Amino acid sequence: MAHDNPHSDDPHHAHAHLPPDPALRVKALETILTKRGLVDPAALDEIIDIYQNKIGPQNGARVVAKAWSDPEFKARLLADADQVLREMDIYGRQGEHMVVVENTPETHNMVVCTLCSCYPWPVLGIPPAWYKSDAYRARAVREPRKVLADFGVTLPEGTKVRVWDSTAEVRYLVLPMRPEGSDGLDEAALAALVNRDSMVGTALTSFPEGTV
Ligand code: FE
Repeated sequence: MAHDNPHSDDPHHAHAHLPPDPALRVKALETILTKRGLVDPAALDEIIDIYQNKIGPQNGARVVAKAWSDPEFKARLLADADQVLREMDIYGRQGEHMVVVENTPETHNMVVCTLCSCYPWPVLGIPPAWYKSDAYRARAVREPRKVLADFGVTLPEGTKVRVWDSTAEVRYLVLPMRPEGSDGLDEAALAALVNRDSMVGTALTSFPEGTV
């Protein structure tokens, strides 16, 4: 068996022993860093918990619901998202400069980071795996309608698709269209209609029938 791996005794090729599953690789890396005293596992868990549970798409949904309910708030949000989000206590890493783009019957907005995986963490939490995938990053700009179709989204012919490429400096949040039939709902009920992908532009928001 030794012939299978000529580097098996070479510490510089330790990565050859890492498990192929990314989750296991992360765990292995975390174990090494912890053993060497370079990271505190409790601090790591806290960071993950914050972005997974405390900060997450529910923040973005709160912003969207408020914009749907309050035209003056929406105007300010579109003009200066940083200021408005700060007033709502939504700020932090990976969201230093935010821009909100509004979906209309004429224009559908979609967000990508073609370079890596820049994403507005304070409003959407941890990015989903598909957002970071090579396929999404390459195809979102080249064939956005096909990508949308893969997500089950078909837009009217006349709707223009606009793709926003995130950078380290600017993070985008899509303000989806308020679904038909949602008149009269309060902000909390509206927020419950807003899913994460609709704020990246790969889903639409809808009002489930039969809930009125
Ligand atoms: Fe990036």
